[in-house]
Amino acid sequence: MVRCRFAPSPTGHMHVGGVRTALFNWLFARNQGGSFILRIEDTDTERSTRESEEQIINSLRWCGLNWDEGPDIGGKYGPYRQSERTKAGLYKRYADELVKNNHAYYAIYHKDDPKTVIKTTTEEPTDLGEEYTYTVNFKVPKEGETTFEDLLKGNMVFKNETFDDFVIIKSNGFPTYNFAVVIDDHLMEITHVFRGEDHLSNTPKQLMIYDAFGWKAPTFMHIPLILGNDRSPLSKRHGHTSVDYFRREGYLSTALMNYLALLGWSVDEEIFDFRDKIRDFDPRSISNKAVIFDYEKLEWINGKHLRVIPLEELMTEFELWLRYTEKFDFYEKLLKDPEYSKQVISICREKINTMSQLLDFSAPFFSDELEYESRFVDKYLKKSWSTEVLEAAIRRFEENDDWSIEGVEKVIRDVSEEKHTSKKNTFQTIRGAVTGRLVTPGLFETVAVLGKEKTLERLEATLD
Ligand code: GLU
Repeated sequence: MVRCRFAPSPTGHMHVGGVRTALFNWLFARNQGGSFILRIEDTDTERSTRESEEQIINSLRWCGLNWDEGPDIGGKYGPYRQSERTKAGLYKRYADELVKNNHAYYAIYHKDDPKTVIKTTTEEPTDLGEEYTYTVNFKVPKEGETTFEDLLKGNMVFKNETFDDFVIIKSNGFPTYNFAVVIDDHLMEITHVFRGEDHLSNTPKQLMIYDAFGWKAPTFMHIPLILGNDRSPLSKRHGHTSVDYFRREGYLSTALMNYLALLGWSVDEEIFDFRDKIRDFDPRSISNKAVIFDYEKLEWINGKHLRVIPLEELMTEFELWLRYTEKFDFYEKLLKDPEYSKQVISICREKINTMSQLLDFSAPFFSDELEYESRFVDKYLKKSWSTEVLEAAIRRFEENDDWSIEGVEKVIRDVSEEKHTSKKNTFQTIRGAVTGRLVTPGLFETVAVLGKEKTLERLEATLD
């Protein structure tokens, strides 16, 4: 059975590149009817935090990448946190076995000079005294080559002589990444490892360890990293990179997944639900070329998603988002009159790409006291004809009983026909009066949704 894993180090937030790696592992596991495992690689005790682990887990969950085994739900290959596996003595046992089989040795150092090996031994040191410490080091074969077939890059060949012996158990008793990853991938029966290209130079070291134990290695695929527009790996220098940032900005997780899947993977459509791609997922259709993160394209894709999902679903997403970002006042207002809110969101979503834009764009519909944009005040409200336009609008709207879009359109066109000023001025004056702004959803839709009472109230307020 296929078993894939995602093995983040909890040393920061969940990077979009990481979640893309997780996505490809997840898609493959699901496509094959296999398992997807979450393992927390927290052996860097200085940099790993529980807070970061929680953030990573939250982000993955939000993205919809569910796992079958992991630190939170357990599983028969647990524990799924390397720190816990270390405490259980697991890595040390395997390291000692390598020493016994002559593939590793203990290296003794002075604590002040961890770079200089004073002595190596195959007997585990005891009573070294305060000043000394030791690591377990892997003995790299001096000759020959280490090779493997990368699913994406083809046959990879590394000369063993280019590698030095390397530490597998640090002096604090924790394993190094290259050692722990092999032990865990083996014990957890991982069949496929898809990970970032930045790990390519680690793979030969890991293969040497597999060989030393006489274990079969998993199939590897190293995926090109996501780059910024200057072609260096995407980092804070280029803009925001954390999944949580996009969540807070009001991206839908399905849109983010859609974009990340598209990035370097050839599929025949542009807008899709990543869960619908399980059936056709073929890791060989991932591109081996560098990919550049395009913030604008992601925003555009998000806008598409916000418009195609059923309105009910968008309302739910919007409510969840308002709560997540702690915008409780707005949340309360949205819930007050659900029918009205639905109509507002329905006309606003045509013009926005993110939920934070939706919040801003729909705000005038929910506010009791409008704030007028200065552009509106200067270009329209201050002009002498504006009073005539507004009075005419009030008169005609008072008499009007048809608050359908067509009914509203007729009233506004009639006001314009009175020719107090140009058509554009008439429309913008009314628009500004009822929303405070000059860019809004369609004017007729806006007034129709606001309804008679609010519209008149707002028009009259401008005359005060
Ligand atoms: N903990 C490693 C990382 O975060 C995992 C690499 C791997 O998948 O082997 O980069």
